Amino acid sequence: LESHGAPLRDEAGNVLGAVIVINNVTRLKRLENVRSEFVANVSHELRTPVTAIKGFIETLQDGAVENVEDAYRFLEIIQRQTDRLNSIIEDLLSLSKIEQHSESVGLEYQRKSIRSVLEGAIRTCREKHHKNIPISLTCPEDCIAYFNPNLLEQAVVNLVDNAIKYSEENEGVYVCGYDNGDSIQIDVEDQGCGIPESHLPRLFERFYRVDKARSRDVGGTGLGLSIVKHIVQAHKGRVSVTSEVGSGSTFTMVIPKGALPAGEAQPTTEEV
Ligand code: ADP
Repeated sequence: LESHGAPLRDEAGNVLGAVIVINNVTRLKRLENVRSEFVANVSHELRTPVTAIKGFIETLQDGAVENVEDAYRFLEIIQRQTDRLNSIIEDLLSLSKIEQHSESVGLEYQRKSIRSVLEGAIRTCREKHHKNIPISLTCPEDCIAYFNPNLLEQAVVNLVDNAIKYSEENEGVYVCGYDNGDSIQIDVEDQGCGIPESHLPRLFERFYRVDKARSRDVGGTGLGLSIVKHIVQAHKGRVSVTSEVGSGSTFTMVIPKGALPAGEAQPTTEEV
């Protein structure tokens, strides 16, 4: 609590009482802490690849460039680390865009079929990975809702991408869309490594990872699930996870079907 006080006097200067203003700054302080922790995390995440890039450039300058084989190996590492920096920056930009949009202009919703979103997301993930992971899709054609198609597809891509990253070859991924009446539900289920229960409550935090080394190996930034959470919340929905170590995980998004964004009386686009 933060307080300011001042005496209250009459015209002759006699003290009549006091005015005390008490502000509850707990929430502000907490926001400030979250923000500075986030900045510290971002700095740390960016510094790791930058340090590696700088180190390998120096090694090359110190003579390693003379050995063609070494030079190519180091250049590859520099390239991988640069890609990593790029992914982190892209994910950070996505996060801030979603925050800005959902607070100011609102999301541009369209009336669309969920199946088309799931198909698009699966296509993107297949193009991205060369792992042999069978992905199956179950969703009725007439599962229709109002939502922002690009954002929802990005959320599904992030979930399917994780399902692939944290599975071994030939373990299947199941993507299902359901019409729950007032809401639509999207499940992404895998048979991968699973997540220990103790990690589940913090899983959707920015930069939270169960296994940092593994996440880096598979190209993770630690931001994928927090982007999913932001997108789902911007649609006034919920995302949850159930998981068992060794058997796999299921991520579930539930989004109200007809929640029009604030200030938008009528849907503008009709596209199925
Ligand atoms: P990352 O970019 O590291 O994958 P995410 O925010 O997408 O970051 O996920 C956070 C962490 O949650 C991951 O590092 C991983 O440890 C765990 N995780 C996410 N999805 C899965 C999954 N399908 N199976 C197992 N672990 C997962």
